[in-house]
Amino acid sequence: MLKADAAIGIIGGSGFYSLLSGPKLVEESTQYGKPSSAIAVGTMADKTVAFLQRHGSKHTIPPHMVPYRANIDALAKLGVKRIVATGACGSVSSKYKPGDFVFFDQFFNMTQGRKDTFFDQDTVMHVSPADPYCPELRSIAIKTAKSMRLSFHDKGTIVVVNGPRFSTRAESMFFTRQGFHTINMTQYPEVMLARERQLCYLGIGLVTDYDVGLVGKKGVEPVSNAEVMNMFSQNIEKVKGLIERMLPLIPDRRRCPCGRALDGALATQK
Ligand SMILES: [Zn+2]
Repeated sequence: MLKADAAIGIIGGSGFYSLLSGPKLVEESTQYGKPSSAIAVGTMADKTVAFLQRHGSKHTIPPHMVPYRANIDALAKLGVKRIVATGACGSVSSKYKPGDFVFFDQFFNMTQGRKDTFFDQDTVMHVSPADPYCPELRSIAIKTAKSMRLSFHDKGTIVVVNGPRFSTRAESMFFTRQGFHTINMTQYPEVMLARERQLCYLGIGLVTDYDVGLVGKKGVEPVSNAEVMNMFSQNIEKVKGLIERMLPLIPDRRRCPCGRALDGALATQK
């Protein structure tokens, strides 16, 4: 019963821990190990959702150690077909300001050494990440953010760095000059693994800071962890409100191409 109902998974990022009221905790295990936390299954806006805490229930798992494969596999095993992932991000563009929401449409991977595929044994799959984010969930998020009069960006490129350290000024300047908009440490490989499981994935970023400053802008202080946590907690109600209002607009049947992400990707001769 649980499996059939828990069709929407929510992955929470920094400072985003208590979304569901009266949740039932499910301990899942996968061939990739245990997920970051027990998965809380409960009701939100009359929909059954499964909520996972990306950094663990006490924020003990750093970004480069998150068991991304176990997290996505555990949600998929529960019957989740769509993932709404939230998290803090920095801005490397003057147009993306602290307090703004971003619905990512592209990522740029700068991480290294992470287990970033389910297909590393016996089967060669070349999955296309050309458009890695679900267009249907993104358009629902945009519509909802408009109706709530939130300050948001309907698209944006997120550069994903390994962490746990922040950027140097040189790195941050490089990202700005590449035309990237935002930066965090967890979108990759999370979004790509969801794609490999043919799940929809929506990445919602809340801009908390200007990384280590902006090119040509004076007086912008380098990001600190305290600033990120403070900004995120100030906006947590907005994040929750956005998701609560989005959920009823998500149709039961998917009309996006995410469920066919593996079509034509198999290179191995069977
Ligand atoms: Zn989709």
